[in-house]
Amino acid sequence: MSLMKNIFPRLWLLSIIMALSIPTYVGESSADTAANLADLNVPILLYHRFGPTVADGMTITTPVFESHLKYLRDNGYKVIPLRQLVDYYLKKGPKPLPKSVVIVADDGHESVYTYMLPLVRQYCVPVTLFLYPSVISNASYAMTWDQLRELKKTGFFNFQSHTYWHPNFKKDEKRMSRPEYEKSVDMQLKKSRARLEKELGVRIDMLAWPFGIYNDWLMAKAKETGYVAAFSIEARHAAEGEALMKLPRYLLVNADKGRVFDKIVQGNAVKRNLVF
Ligand SMILES: [Zn+2]
Repeated sequence: MSLMKNIFPRLWLLSIIMALSIPTYVGESSADTAANLADLNVPILLYHRFGPTVADGMTITTPVFESHLKYLRDNGYKVIPLRQLVDYYLKKGPKPLPKSVVIVADDGHESVYTYMLPLVRQYCVPVTLFLYPSVISNASYAMTWDQLRELKKTGFFNFQSHTYWHPNFKKDEKRMSRPEYEKSVDMQLKKSRARLEKELGVRIDMLAWPFGIYNDWLMAKAKETGYVAAFSIEARHAAEGEALMKLPRYLLVNADKGRVFDKIVQGNAVKRNLVF
């Protein structure tokens, strides 16, 4: 009993000393403190197709893509995985450091394998691909499942859903009956994820809206179906407190090079309207 009496006051005193000393441990480096104070401001750069020449409006030439990667590296930007940004929003991870940038590519075009992959390896940047499985190993312009598995092995690529066959939800809603439309949306969201998970053995819980089309009902549906984040093509940086089912992305075209690209990354880009 007397031993207990002696120990308890000491433990109590010790716990006070420890509590008082905790703030000195939490302080960490000044760089971390600066990151915590700065508001989140991350551009998500969206690509589609790559190639030696501009074959269409969505193609970015290999030299222009390389100039982007070089610009980011030379100017102190760090390309972070999309998951890292989403985890911060979900309160599952730390805030991305200032000068963080995310790179994604939609549609699973074969030029991702042919032209993007070598540069991704060279510059060691993480990339998230939003895929619609109906074309994989099916359409000549798309990658095959084997190519995607090869990309997975490099460790640089993450895969997410872009619905099952890239429907235009606006048009579908008009031409289908309501029950038909709702059934179709449900299929697009679920079948895409199931196929990607089965073929690639990865977790699918993010969605890129086809043509950037979404509304409140679609966002609620995506959430209900198990997606934790979805992405639009609203051209601005991702900031604090974003709505997770319509995170913004910059859809890049080949003219986005040099000073234009510099302005996009810095958040001073001239607004442009993309109509589908
Ligand atoms: Zn698309």
